[in-house]
Amino acid sequence: MMIVMKEGASPEQIDAVIARIESVGARAHPSRGELVTVIGAIGDREHVANLGLEGTEGVDHLVPILKPYKLASSQFKKGERTVLDVDGRRIGGPHFMTIAGPCTVESREQLLDTAHVVNDAGGQALRGGAYKPRTSPYSFQGLAEAGLRLLAEAKEETGLPIVTEVMDARDLDPVLEVADVIQLGARNMQNYTLLTELGRAGRPVLLKRGLSATLEELLMAAEYILKEGNEAVILCERGIRTFETAYRFTLDLMAVPVLKDLSHLPVVVDPSHAAGRRDLVGPLSLAAAAAGADGVIVETHPDPERAICDGPQAVRAEEFGDYLRQVEQVAAIAGKEMARV
Ligand code: PEP
Ligand code: MN
Repeated sequence: MMIVMKEGASPEQIDAVIARIESVGARAHPSRGELVTVIGAIGDREHVANLGLEGTEGVDHLVPILKPYKLASSQFKKGERTVLDVDGRRIGGPHFMTIAGPCTVESREQLLDTAHVVNDAGGQALRGGAYKPRTSPYSFQGLAEAGLRLLAEAKEETGLPIVTEVMDARDLDPVLEVADVIQLGARNMQNYTLLTELGRAGRPVLLKRGLSATLEELLMAAEYILKEGNEAVILCERGIRTFETAYRFTLDLMAVPVLKDLSHLPVVVDPSHAAGRRDLVGPLSLAAAAAGADGVIVETHPDPERAICDGPQAVRAEEFGDYLRQVEQVAAIAGKEMARV
């Protein structure tokens, strides 16, 4: 339920409404605008309805939020877009962010080379996994804490904020020492205990859509994070399973405008994991930017033939500058500015 206060409602009247909401075990999320304050009441709908807030002093009217996700819904922000700050670089609203780097951190040389390529080309954040979700338990699982240390070094050298995945809440503390954005992988999108932990971690979260998740399920997953008080969630479309076998996943680009309609949260696209093939990454990135994405998260590697994982989909480092220039041109046509520092 959204409680819309009257223009000029006093702070005491607002506090009184918040106290009433909290008295029935619901949470109050006030959003204080220049003229009007709106209070989101999240909890048992019936309890909140039974409070009879309509007649309360300072209250103008009540609006039910009909979607099952509340804090993630566009209605909750009255159509305003969320803009997030990632170590001084912005994403969301008019701000487009390119997050790029290798699939996994392999070595000091590989990571630092890539970080410089991304930074010199104008990329705004460095991605790289230290904990890798692999289909086979016999595949390389990531360098873990040694990988995190290399990411910290790459940040120190280039200033690029770090986006890296956490797979297990037990690794959260070391990841938090390095990550400016915590990535939650597609396979963990419905790991509700981990989502709750990330909601309490106080760091932006890049939440990837599960391989077979609907947009509503993705937004409900985001709601788990938001509900804990973490308002910094970036949604990521990374391809879903369909009947098509000609490529790895089907990049659902319709998800971009639809998610932006349903939610105020920034939406980025991962063309690399959707395609699994380098030749598709360019066109899909341009299409994502044209569709209004708030950014891309893309894999690049200085020596893809020798990459430990996902080499075939990595943009060649020497081609990354040209790749990014094209993406930025389309993003600019779509009304975006790049998140430069
Ligand atoms: C990744 O970004 O490295 C990754 C494993 O992606 P996803 O969770 O989308 O498969
Ligand atoms: Mn990968």
